[in-house]
Amino acid sequence: MSECLFCRIIRREIPASIVYEDDRVLAFNDINPQAPLHALVIPKRHIESLNALAPEDDALVGELARRAAAIARDKGFAERGFRTVFNTNADAGQTVFHIHLHLLAGRGLTWPPG
Ligand code: AMP
Ligand code: ZN
Repeated sequence: MSECLFCRIIRREIPASIVYEDDRVLAFNDINPQAPLHALVIPKRHIESLNALAPEDDALVGELARRAAAIARDKGFAERGFRTVFNTNADAGQTVFHIHLHLLAGRGLTWPPG
């Protein structure tokens, strides 16, 4: 079994504040939130990063994006706006190597990012 942190959250071996779950996708609040809403939307299948995506993963990545938008909408941020980010490898600051879409909302977010 995978020792990956997020796989362990999926298996409920590590607690998380879960905001959405279905057969393929899990979303939970980030443990170190950078905005009033900071959730991570992940596939239940372990995929290391965007670099590991295959063409057959296209629908799954679409689900992550649509789920992030749905969570933002449900929490009242669709109009104000929100940010979604996939960090990939060292220069982007990826620390957990199980694909996760960051969903940030509830404050003005600067651009370009740091
Ligand atoms: P990244 O740097 O893009 O790989 O993002 C990893 C994110 O996972 C960071 O924002 C962390 O705060 C978050 N994180 C790490 N451990 C946990 C955990 N146990 N529960 C929820 N979020 C976590
Ligand atoms: Zn994993």
